[in-house]
Amino acid sequence: MDVKKEKIGFIGLGIMGLPMARNLMKDGFELVVYNRTRSKCTELEEKGAIIANNPADVATNAKVIITMVTDSPDVQELLLGEEGIMETIQKDSIVIDMSTISPKITKELNAELNSKGCYMIDAPVSGGSWGAIEGTLSIMIGGAKSAYERCVPLFESMGKNIIYTGESGMGQTTKLVNQILVAGTMNAVAEALVFAAKSGADLEKTIDAVGGGAAASWQLNNLAPRIVKGDFDPGFMIKLQQKDLRLVIETAQAMNVPIPGTSLASQMFASLLSKGLGDEGTQALVKAYETLAGVEART
Ligand code: NAP
Repeated sequence: MDVKKEKIGFIGLGIMGLPMARNLMKDGFELVVYNRTRSKCTELEEKGAIIANNPADVATNAKVIITMVTDSPDVQELLLGEEGIMETIQKDSIVIDMSTISPKITKELNAELNSKGCYMIDAPVSGGSWGAIEGTLSIMIGGAKSAYERCVPLFESMGKNIIYTGESGMGQTTKLVNQILVAGTMNAVAEALVFAAKSGADLEKTIDAVGGGAAASWQLNNLAPRIVKGDFDPGFMIKLQQKDLRLVIETAQAMNVPIPGTSLASQMFASLLSKGLGDEGTQALVKAYETLAGVEART
């Protein structure tokens, strides 16, 4: 299979999926797209993509199918549900799931696909909506190596740091490692900014000073400037971060690995979900610390 000559199925045109699909089209890939809410297909339809009526319809028209949806049950539904991919999948097809879901469910779905002579590649991403737009995502890949190798041109169209990490589920496991780091760092940034605000520090100067030294991080350098301006639009929504932390906690519990730092971050995010702030970006974690300290970290 030469992936450059294949029609590519793409399911899930959300914050991440739409710009990723756009980049594939920019690089000349012919797309068959499906999104549950059809109105989100308009832009790609105008650019020449074929619009499918359901996931089964995608699998009829494409042997390489990318999924970028929310959580494990959503990927299960796309594959195994009514009018799902499994109803019409052709032998030797490859499903590339780029959503962040459970490593365990990934392995189960891969086994289902293998039973039909097909493959599942898990290829979750990091780099946020900005990385999706710019085509600079980090992509962490698990699954059959031969299937991965055939799909490299697709990954190169959507990302820059493309790492094959091992057998089915390993891409998702690597992504959970990423989420431990991301949530812990966001937690530290929120705590630090509230400390600085209560101390009467100039917040912009503080970010410039510490962001150029050993404390630099993607969260500090990209999200802290947005926090102090009061910009809480998502990038990455709190409700999705909390979904990922649930996956981390479940996986850690199954291995008896203590993860106190991640658990704390998850509790702080929970306080924001209970206030109905799940659709805000993860930088809104600062609001949980602001409530505790009675101060706002804004310029
Ligand atoms: P999003 O904007 O909420 O988009 C979710 C997409 O999934 C929408 O197209 C939605 O369709 C579709 N969907 C959800 N459940 C479905 C179902 N049961 N059947 C069919 N379609 C379904 O989320 P996102 O930010 O793009 O995130 C997508 C995935 O990437 C998540 O797993 C997330 O954790 C991961 N991720 C996100 C970021 C980020 O910065 N945003 C970064 C790295 C990884 P509708 O349009 O009909 O709702």
